Amino acid sequence: MSEASDAKHRRLQELVDDIVARLAKETERGEVADYIPELAKVDPNRFGMAIVPVDTGRAVVAGDGDVPFSIQSISKVFSLTLALEKVGEALWKRVNREPSGDPFNSIVQLEYEKGVPRNPFINAGAIVVADVIMEGLSPKDATNDMLGLCRRLAHDGSVYVDRNVARSERLTGARNRALAQFMAAEGNLRGSVEDVVTTYFNHCSIAMTCRQLATAGMYLACAGIPIGATDASINADRARRLMALMMTCGQYDASGEFAFRIGIPSKSGVGGGILAVMPGVASIAVWSPGLDAKGNSLLGTRALEELVRATGWSVFGRIPDRD
Ligand code: GLU
Repeated sequence: MSEASDAKHRRLQELVDDIVARLAKETERGEVADYIPELAKVDPNRFGMAIVPVDTGRAVVAGDGDVPFSIQSISKVFSLTLALEKVGEALWKRVNREPSGDPFNSIVQLEYEKGVPRNPFINAGAIVVADVIMEGLSPKDATNDMLGLCRRLAHDGSVYVDRNVARSERLTGARNRALAQFMAAEGNLRGSVEDVVTTYFNHCSIAMTCRQLATAGMYLACAGIPIGATDASINADRARRLMALMMTCGQYDASGEFAFRIGIPSKSGVGGGILAVMPGVASIAVWSPGLDAKGNSLLGTRALEELVRATGWSVFGRIPDRD
């Protein structure tokens, strides 16, 4: 490593350490999701952050950045990637690409729109995506395919499915079953409702650390950049489109507000994690379990806001001399 890149690494580490130290003192941390009982057991004081810059590939990690947490809806980015690899553009006959403006588990739009979910990042959309991944496979194999992708992208074979979280989701997943039943009634589900939701719950129950998640996001951050860290099997066009969906649909019905405040594509999960990407520059993961009223990590969002303000990162125009 050159002196310049060492210095850059140190500056970024100091910045992230400072953000983590300041937010650790916050008393207003949001509410940990409790509709999945296993998630309610997570300590709300946890806080982790990791950034992998494209130019060095060297991870900057702070706080609880090496503690695994339930990635929940962040898995929707990876499951969409896998489904697109499997069936390509045909996927878009079964799920749309518009922001929903409704909560992540809402059923009302599905009825108006005849069982075709608004986008792949709300629960109904991800359930269809799980159905696509599962076609011709058992729920176990469809889960292993996702786990394999996450491990490959994270360069880490220790990524795992948290069986306690998966069981907890299965025991309390009436609403997700209702979404699946409704889509089955409209002819937009091929597998059995129980098999499809089991696959979906397993995908949501994958546990990763911020370091693993930020590393996994490099296939997006590096889209079109031919460097070693990029996974060549996911082409740049596809990665760019995934990021467009993250920007417009990645934060449930707060996606517009998030674009306004943060300005880079991201996907959140009710486990309190957020994966965010500054294309061509860095992949970022943050975790703070307390959520705001829309289901997004309260302090995770604050951390990203402080990060982009300090670095000048935004897809709407970068301020280069700040980072
Ligand atoms: N497994 C969660 C559910 O289906 C995912 C929700 C989320 O993270 O948005 O409710």
